[in-house]
Amino acid sequence: MIYDLSKVDIKYLPGVGPKRAELLKAEAGLSSFGDLLYYFPYKYVDRSRIYRISEIDGSMPYIQLKGRILSFETLGEGRRRRLVAHFTDGTGVIDLVWFQAIKYVINRYTPGAEYVIFGKPNEYGGRINVAHPEIDKADAPVIAGLGLRPGYNTTERMKRSDITSAFIQRMVANVFARMDKPLPETLTADIVAAHSLMPLDEAIRQIHFPTSPEALRRAQFRLKFEELFYVQLELLRYSSERTKKYRGFVFSRIGRIFNDFYSHHIPFDLTGAQKRVLKEIRRDVGSGRQMNRLLQGDVGSGKTLVALMSMLMALDNAYQACLIAPTEILAAQHYATISSMVTGLGITVELLTGSIKGKRREAILEGLRAGDVDILIGTHAVLEDTVEFHSLGIVVIDEQHRFGVAQRARMWKKNYAPPHVLVMTATPIPRTLAMTLYGDLDVSVIDELPPGRKPVRTVHVYDTGRDALHRLLQAQMDEGRQVYIVYPLIEESEKSDLKNLETGYRQVCEDFPDRRVCKVHGKMKPAEKDEEMRRFVSGECSIMVATTVIEVGVNVPNASVMVIENAERFGLSQLHQLRGRVGRGADQSYCILVTKYNLSEDTRRRIDIMVETNDGFEIAEADLAIRGPGDLEGLRQSGMAFDLKIANLARDGQILQLARDAARAVIGRDPDGTRPEYALLWQRLSQLKRVTADWSSIS
Ligand code: ADP
Ligand code: MG
Repeated sequence: MIYDLSKVDIKYLPGVGPKRAELLKAEAGLSSFGDLLYYFPYKYVDRSRIYRISEIDGSMPYIQLKGRILSFETLGEGRRRRLVAHFTDGTGVIDLVWFQAIKYVINRYTPGAEYVIFGKPNEYGGRINVAHPEIDKADAPVIAGLGLRPGYNTTERMKRSDITSAFIQRMVANVFARMDKPLPETLTADIVAAHSLMPLDEAIRQIHFPTSPEALRRAQFRLKFEELFYVQLELLRYSSERTKKYRGFVFSRIGRIFNDFYSHHIPFDLTGAQKRVLKEIRRDVGSGRQMNRLLQGDVGSGKTLVALMSMLMALDNAYQACLIAPTEILAAQHYATISSMVTGLGITVELLTGSIKGKRREAILEGLRAGDVDILIGTHAVLEDTVEFHSLGIVVIDEQHRFGVAQRARMWKKNYAPPHVLVMTATPIPRTLAMTLYGDLDVSVIDELPPGRKPVRTVHVYDTGRDALHRLLQAQMDEGRQVYIVYPLIEESEKSDLKNLETGYRQVCEDFPDRRVCKVHGKMKPAEKDEEMRRFVSGECSIMVATTVIEVGVNVPNASVMVIENAERFGLSQLHQLRGRVGRGADQSYCILVTKYNLSEDTRRRIDIMVETNDGFEIAEADLAIRGPGDLEGLRQSGMAFDLKIANLARDGQILQLARDAARAVIGRDPDGTRPEYALLWQRLSQLKRVTADWSSIS
């Protein structure tokens, strides 16, 4: 049994007590010794060097000084009131400044006593000051351990109760003091040896109290490796179990429908990548294994066609197929595209969304049960239990990032054995993320765009310089092309965004009085929305003013300009998705990013990347690097990826690969989880799963 510190309550630690214990739990989720040991610092500050006042200047990021306070002085009035302490080490004098807690500071620190102060220096009027410095008595125990000082996350509420980073460090030290034996290893000896990992006990001690940068680096490596290893072990175990448990439906033949479609219904040749992926899918569905495949491909790479042809394989073998899209608009568009592509094949395609009700809905449900409907296209609405199939053989899920593992699993129940599942993502995801989010899926990649596409030209303009933009739009429309103008939509303030859209719409109508303009946003009734979409798709309108509802799926090859207003308010993947709406014809298309003049550094980088590249994978990597994985849409919903405490998917790709290989080796050697030499791993995994509620819902 693993030495279990998760059972020991932190409220008995010195200086904690019931009130602070409650706060620690509420604010940081800390309630046991184990929680504390795994509450890792988010930064380390090098406190090994003490400077002299004579050698510092205002440009240094941090300084540490040892000296005495000469005197206190309060200056200013009202909101400008501040406390200044004149501080000297014998080589010069600087000012320590406080804008808050003035009384507290005066009472706490004594002029004449020796202190070590730490903070960011500023230069003001030729004099150096440090605002709100950290101060310790020169003989305090923390000072004795000068070196890399950890910084722990604390919240405002914690700080108000004096639970500072230093307090947390003291708690951790106290936990170590109460441990009477080392933390037992949580990885097997062969894995520890193969990767020269630091033992767990040492790594946990080093992560909190590093003795050198090198030791810290090794501790971090060990803990990141372990964290990623267990995620991968669970994903691979899950997928191997699934393979064992379920036999997949066998689509043994390629029949009339597929062949007829292939020979007579596609007006172009498949790209090499589309053919390769179809072969991969064909191999899966013919194998007797249940397919769980992720299909990645950039916007416009032709995933829909691959999806459709995969569904036709099911139909040829007397199974039904289902395609799920994240929004009604997209579902409707898929329905329209697919229905028209299969005309004449003698198959029945139906659309089912939340807004299809009453008799129409009943008829579709009946058709599904009877097996009269061959392909069902819909939204989340098809997950409902009332939607029953006669014999569902394959499910295609488009735009996976809005769809969790749990939802995927619901589709499995739609037949006596789970149907094959093909998941399509339009937003390319960096490999590291894919391995974590979809680590249980096999991956196919369409890495080739259909021929004859001219890369979209992307231009950044400030909203003060619209003349050129205006001329470009006129010129394109004179040539008969169409234009999208997109406004951001932020959920919390839909009203004001709608106002933006309305104002924008009126402005566009004024600017282009001889053009027809239509308008689409999320708050419209579906019928209204459909009508506006139709007006654009049919070419009746030259300009569509819209919010991001058009982000996914709309396909109007004649549209050649995508104008994105307030582009600074969009994330990279969204910008890339929007840009993918144009460039679908053979002529030159344009994406115009309109922003305000003052941009933050991150925003400027986003815009620059958009201007520089059309490659979705490159953009996805950049996105991960700029935003960090925590924010990435999908990570949270995935249900599989639990919070990573120390590993960073943007930076730790190599460690992830090593961890995945190690986990794969374990599954290979112990597929049933019964070999004694790996008992430790399986035990640890189930312990981790108990604390991560999300995991339980999927296995
Ligand atoms: P996405 O991968 O973004 O879903 P789509 O499936 O919507 O891309 O395809 C984009 C456009 O490319 C569609 O108009 C589709 O008909 C067309 N297309 C797909 N495959 C090919 C191909 N092999 N050659 C030419 N055009 C293609
Ligand atoms: Mg698509």
